[in-house]
Amino acid sequence: MSILVYAESWEGRFRKSTYEAASYANQLANDLDTDLIAVSFGNIDESELSKLGEYGVSKIFSYSNVTKSDNNNASILLAKHAEDSKAIIFANTFSAKMIAPRLSSKLKAGLLSNVISTILNTENFTFQRQSFSSKAIEKVSVSTEKVIITISPNAFEIKNSTTNCVITKNDANFENQFTVIGSETNTGKISLSEAEIVISAGRGLKGPENWGMIEELAELLNAATACSKPVSDIGWRPHSEHVGQTGKAVAPNLYIAVGISGAIQHLAGVNSSKVMVAINTDPEAAFFKAADYGVIGDAFDVVPKLIEEIKKIKN
Ligand SMILES: Cc1cc2nc3c(=O)[nH]c(=O)nc-3n(C[C@H](O)[C@H](O)[C@H](O)COP(=O)(O)OP(=O)(O)OC[C@H]3O[C@@H](n4cnc5c(N)ncnc54)[C@H](O)[C@@H]3O)c2cc1C
Repeated sequence: MSILVYAESWEGRFRKSTYEAASYANQLANDLDTDLIAVSFGNIDESELSKLGEYGVSKIFSYSNVTKSDNNNASILLAKHAEDSKAIIFANTFSAKMIAPRLSSKLKAGLLSNVISTILNTENFTFQRQSFSSKAIEKVSVSTEKVIITISPNAFEIKNSTTNCVITKNDANFENQFTVIGSETNTGKISLSEAEIVISAGRGLKGPENWGMIEELAELLNAATACSKPVSDIGWRPHSEHVGQTGKAVAPNLYIAVGISGAIQHLAGVNSSKVMVAINTDPEAAFFKAADYGVIGDAFDVVPKLIEEIKKIKN
């Protein structure tokens, strides 16, 4: 028996969420007294692959000629390596959302998404997961022989556990169903789904020309920027920044919402944040009910003052 972790990479490097998933999977492997193995796709060099050994992975199977966009073939290969696995662990990324359900169907394995606990009962495989857009927590036990688990980014700590890691490089002997012919990256920007701090702004900012202060605050705090749905719909900000029920779900350590009313659809994507701060002129704004800290005030006064104070502390 083993535990298998899907080691997702981006441009030849493992993502922070991959190390979180490996650390989580390693804990589960320890709890079940078994080994942790990993499967990765894409061109990743040996020094990067060997980093997984720092998080308890004892064997890694790397397929350089398979892209993670090729969800169907990726799930076929994962199913092959999971034959002997009790659990298959994913970070809950876009790629995982495409691959994990296919794998679940192939292995006839129960799929638990948004898991927020380590194993609670090793006899009947019980875990806690978030449901109803993070408004409720369910305790679920899985009756299938294998279980597939996705964990939210930033929900579990990365923990070192150095292990001798054997790397096996393979070529899959099938045609890719997809070919990536180009990709654009937001170079220099912090990935929204993995950021520890997110500065988000809404329609209260009045127009795209006022985002300079949001970007300055984000840069000072090493944070990613986000926005509400209408803001990206109007084109004030790119769609990649839209958070909420119909946008990205984020779970940073700190989420600062500037001029965002706190509609339920917005909160659905951000209420797993560890600490939420709302800045709003309206004392009745719904965000104040959900936030840990609230500032009733005009963003155009509050944000520049915040920037000034942070600069003082940094100096
Ligand atoms: C099916 C569906 C899905 C949806 N999905 C999403 C989603 O994924 N994400 C999402 O965000 N929304 C989503 N929405 C839209 C959501 O219901 C809200 O309409 C939206 O979140 C409101 O955006 P907002 O807070 O930026 O704007 P508004 O509701 O216009 O709020 C602006 C806020 O700014 C405050 N304000 C104004 N001036 C200032 C100032 N100078 N300083 C400080 N505060 C100020 C106001 O008091 C107000 O609270 C969805 C809606 C539907 C129906």
